[in-house]
Amino acid sequence: SPAAPLLDVQDLSVAYGRIEALTGVSLQVQAGQIVTVIGPNGAGKSTLLGALMGVLPARAGQVLLDGEAVQAAPVAARVARGLALVPETRALFASMSVVDNLRLGAYRFRQEPAARHREALDEVYALFPRLQERAQQAAATLSGGERQMLALGRALMGRPRLLMLDEPSLGLAPLIVRDIFRILDTLRARGVAILLVEQNARAALRLADHGHVLELGRVALAGPAQALADDPRIVEAYLGAH
Ligand code: ATP
Repeated sequence: SPAAPLLDVQDLSVAYGRIEALTGVSLQVQAGQIVTVIGPNGAGKSTLLGALMGVLPARAGQVLLDGEAVQAAPVAARVARGLALVPETRALFASMSVVDNLRLGAYRFRQEPAARHREALDEVYALFPRLQERAQQAAATLSGGERQMLALGRALMGRPRLLMLDEPSLGLAPLIVRDIFRILDTLRARGVAILLVEQNARAALRLADHGHVLELGRVALAGPAQALADDPRIVEAYLGAH
């Protein structure tokens, strides 16, 4: 249905054996929105992304893309529907060049003409001029920030409608985090929806439209990002005094 959100997660539960890592998680992402999921270590944030991508099975609940249930669909089917997970930077091919890593991100369009690939590559280079400068360099030789750019660029080569990121700010200097988050803002303005998992609650809530706080596998709080940033419970537990 045209009114259905791009992503609609309903009462999702995921378990590792007898240990339930997610319990009854619900959230929505509309086209053109950034939704963030914040929470402490072990809250289940990575588990959520794994279940949405299809690499972890859902024990219960539904995952709807454009109103269609995909919780039993394989990863490739979800990718074909426009879902992309920005890999952790250690998932890059370290010995391959920057440009070859980017080309791999367009694998699902391998039947398309070379000119279309060139166009997609140029779009990524326009967002990340640094990657163009480093095109022939092995991914292993990039700085942490450049690796994060490459991981993001590679996901963009798949032309996603919903981009999911697992802690893109991890281990990066504040200035680099600002650059990465500015790119996410640009992508949102172009209509790409974003589900951003972050421990950097301050930066994530500043950028996002909506936020969810995950604690022990459950959504403890949710609402407009600004309201969460002003909520004394969030300030105390996640933002600290400033
Ligand atoms: P972090 O920010 O530290 O990565 P997280 O919020 O992403 O934390 P998850 O990695 O999703 O949390 O972990 C949620 C819970 O599930 C934790 O208790 C974790 O120990 C457990 N868990 C994660 N992966 C597995 C696994 N493969 N087998 C068993 N338990 C797991």
